[in-house]
Amino acid sequence: MIVQQHAQRLLDFIDTSPSPWHAVDSIEKTIQASQFIRLDESSKWQLQAGGRYYVIRDDSSIVAFVMGDGILAESGFRIVGAHTDSPGFRIRPNGATVSDGMARLGVEIYGGPILATFTDRDLSLAGRISFLDDGKQLTHKLVCFDEPLLRLPNLAIHMNRGVNEDGLKLHKQNELPLLFAQLTAEQLPKPYFLELLARAADLDTTQILSWDLAVYDTQKGTFWGANREFYANSQIDNLASCHAALQALLDNVVLDSAHSTLVCAFFDHEEIGSESHIGAGGSFLADVLQRIDIATSTEREDHARALAQSFLISADMAHAYQPNFPAAYDADHRVFVNKGPVIKSNANRRYSSESVSIARFIQWCEEAGVPYQRYSHRSDLPCGSTIGPIASAKLGIRSVDVGCPMWAMHSVRESAGVLDHDYMIRVLQQFFCD
Ligand SMILES: [Zn+2]
Repeated sequence: MIVQQHAQRLLDFIDTSPSPWHAVDSIEKTIQASQFIRLDESSKWQLQAGGRYYVIRDDSSIVAFVMGDGILAESGFRIVGAHTDSPGFRIRPNGATVSDGMARLGVEIYGGPILATFTDRDLSLAGRISFLDDGKQLTHKLVCFDEPLLRLPNLAIHMNRGVNEDGLKLHKQNELPLLFAQLTAEQLPKPYFLELLARAADLDTTQILSWDLAVYDTQKGTFWGANREFYANSQIDNLASCHAALQALLDNVVLDSAHSTLVCAFFDHEEIGSESHIGAGGSFLADVLQRIDIATSTEREDHARALAQSFLISADMAHAYQPNFPAAYDADHRVFVNKGPVIKSNANRRYSSESVSIARFIQWCEEAGVPYQRYSHRSDLPCGSTIGPIASAKLGIRSVDVGCPMWAMHSVRESAGVLDHDYMIRVLQQFFCD
């Protein structure tokens, strides 16, 4: 029962998090309910042993932490890292255009989505808007169109006869603009779209200065399978890992018995390489960890000592075996949905795992009574990567790359196993309690 509940909470979390900005907002609401206190990077920090805190940088990356009762230089940080962004489409600044009365929004591709999966879906927009408030102060807020607003209709098979043999190919510049309205000759597309945006954000068009808007799929998450043993939603990569880490951190036993300082670090921009001031390649996590040290010790050496005692679990999703495509996998490293967290290895350090960090993760699995699996990508296919190698290099701490197995990574509708989400929560709890 608790297993299904965890998965239901994950689906609800994704449904309330249609963009990375909304994901951080959902996370903030969840941790505020557990008495976490927000810290401002421009203020002085005063931290208490056992205190619960979080820092948000630029709305879409967040670091939440629980101060341990041990001496930081001796107990170090226990960190779980994940990412808040998912691949898809972003609206271009002057994206609204019209031809033959059909208004469309031009998009840029964000990261590496499976483009064909965005066709014929009930798409809409979510993001944030910068605007002038009543006192003419510059401010910003989240915006979300709840109803389907956009669509990318397929060409009928009668006009694309080879589609089933050749696959659906979409020209990235010409064939991705999303249809959103039929306009009269008097209506101009840009002001028309601005009007829509203003209405959704409860603003006047004259207040709006700029915005970031992501395309999202309005279909809610669901369970599927004869025993509801699978679930489907968008953004499972990697909101499932954010959710698992958060659930592990918010467990009462974990919160009340933290010896090490426990950290959840969720970054934007993983899907585009992590190189930004809020990404895993930026200074955000290193800055937060250093400031925790500064707030708790006057010895400069203590920060290096704390890092030397620290460990990072980089949690991101893994590629589950799909029996229709056996040739896509290394036969000895197939991993299966609902068979436990996957430890990812790559000799070229696309993943940060090495024998010592892997052994420690195996121990935590065994202590938690959680099965685990080992994954290695086919040598003739380029291997993906994630925040593990980047964040561990940045901080100089040991790391392992793990994740739950899933199908259709980077589809707008991904799926995974109910049991695995619970397994991941349990092993991360074990890690935090260790
Ligand atoms: Zn990912």
